[in-house]
Amino acid sequence: MTKGTDTAVQGVTEEGAGKHRVVVIGSGFGGLFGAKALRRSAVDVTMIAKTTHHLFQPLLYQVATGILSEGEIAPPTREILSRQKNAQVLLGEVTDIDLERRLVVSQVLGRETVTPYDSLLVAAGATQSYFGNDHFAEFAPGMKTIDDALELRGRIFGAFEMAELGALRGEDVDHLLTFVVVGAGPTGVEMAGQIAELAHRTLTRDFRAISSRQARVILADAAPQVLPPFGKKLGQKTKKELEKLGVEVMLGAMVTDVDERGLVVKHKDGSEERIDAVTKIWAAGVAGSPLARTLSEQTGAPLDRAGRIGVNPDLTLPGHPEVFVVGDMIALDNLPGVAQVAIQGAKYAAKEIDGRLKGKPAQKPFKYFDKGSMATISRFRAVAMVGRIRITGFVAWLMWLAVHLVYITGFKNRVTAVLHWLVSFLGRGRAERTATEQQIFGRSALARLERGVQDLVSDPGEYADKRLADEQARRLALEEQALEEVRLTDAGERGVRV
Ligand SMILES: Cc1cc2nc3c(=O)[nH]c(=O)nc-3n(C[C@H](O)[C@H](O)[C@H](O)COP(=O)(O)OP(=O)(O)OC[C@H]3O[C@@H](n4cnc5c(N)ncnc54)[C@H](O)[C@@H]3O)c2cc1C
Repeated sequence: MTKGTDTAVQGVTEEGAGKHRVVVIGSGFGGLFGAKALRRSAVDVTMIAKTTHHLFQPLLYQVATGILSEGEIAPPTREILSRQKNAQVLLGEVTDIDLERRLVVSQVLGRETVTPYDSLLVAAGATQSYFGNDHFAEFAPGMKTIDDALELRGRIFGAFEMAELGALRGEDVDHLLTFVVVGAGPTGVEMAGQIAELAHRTLTRDFRAISSRQARVILADAAPQVLPPFGKKLGQKTKKELEKLGVEVMLGAMVTDVDERGLVVKHKDGSEERIDAVTKIWAAGVAGSPLARTLSEQTGAPLDRAGRIGVNPDLTLPGHPEVFVVGDMIALDNLPGVAQVAIQGAKYAAKEIDGRLKGKPAQKPFKYFDKGSMATISRFRAVAMVGRIRITGFVAWLMWLAVHLVYITGFKNRVTAVLHWLVSFLGRGRAERTATEQQIFGRSALARLERGVQDLVSDPGEYADKRLADEQARRLALEEQALEEVRLTDAGERGVRV
């Protein structure tokens, strides 16, 4: 536990004294599906997550490019679990896990909570990796959170605005109208395709001094092909489709430097190229949650190069059968970092916890069932891979539409998402183009504070004393003001020239 913080201890019952306590870390695909799978079990579930929402990451790029609103892909976890009586939701960033004492330590704004568990399900996902160049993040935001998507929305639409102003002054605006997406995996492909659609379709009538069609969209990757996990054929097909849309696909191009005004790529032949581009988007590389390291240090479980933890075939940690780890933060059998791995792993862990309480024998090792992968390229164009079948074009796009509608959480969100898709795909509009100055600059401003947001709030102790003093002062001021109002009315002094 951290010194000098306000600490609350949750659920003080010892094991055996109350219901079996399951703590779930994370409200993403693993965390949410794990908690839901325990709805009929005789357990108390506590979900601890650092955001109050469940994020549907596969549609983040649509928030960034103005198609969907953040609420449509990130409903409140508390609302989703409101009918599940055995589940409680706590906001907090888990900073420590004590496997010996079976405690989870979480923090929010300097307030610390300690939550004991009997079984633990860790689904803290992955973070963006800049391959050791973390300073790139300042100028090339990643695509992992709602904050990232809203910042990118502000930067993308903001670049067109700044270009219009620059062009009115007769300045060169090429660097403002050049967009570079780094990483040609599904996220990079989807992002580049959508920026190209913005430039060549959505925004064509909106500006007077520039033509949005002038925009240059570059998709850069050190790999020799786009979408490597989709195989060579689909990779080539996707590259062609992107080029038709106006995207420059730059393969074998490793990014070696990023600054405010652009970036440098090193080509395979050793030559270096500087690209002036104000808007850069980092869609390359993931690293397992830092909690993987915490767990590895206590159990000796190995970490792979991406910081993901090696787990037993039943998703538990060595020497700790009560701790399950699932999703993007595990390294097991080369499983991909996709939603279904997290969902199926979490359901497996929940079944095991329930089975143990009922005295059932242990399940067979976890086996992932691959339901297929897909990525959109533009409206009406996608690629999909189901088993040995490869599908491209409109049919793949329809499959993408159906799958995403099924997995978007909540009826309300499905209805509004369909409306927004109609606006964007049949029409040329984007319903969610609003961006604020705070969305664009908030991250940089927070990074300049020593302790981040914590520097903006009072420490828990100070807060209580200050609140009391403030309350007394405010009461006196309100009383004085009321007495003066009464006096003015009773003395007939209103409307009399002073
Ligand atoms: C832009 C993008 C597009 C994607 N597209 C697809 C796709 O099309 N198809 C597909 O199958 N997969 C896709 N993925 C991958 C998919 O989203 C992940 O595989 C999946 O989300 C993994 O689930 P998870 O539960 O392991 O982690 P996540 O869903 O990332 O959830 C992690 C949770 O843990 C919380 N958390 C993290 N650290 C802490 C902490 N210290 N304390 C408390 N809470 C914490 C987070 O707030 C979050 O709630 C995409 C990912 C991204 C980023």
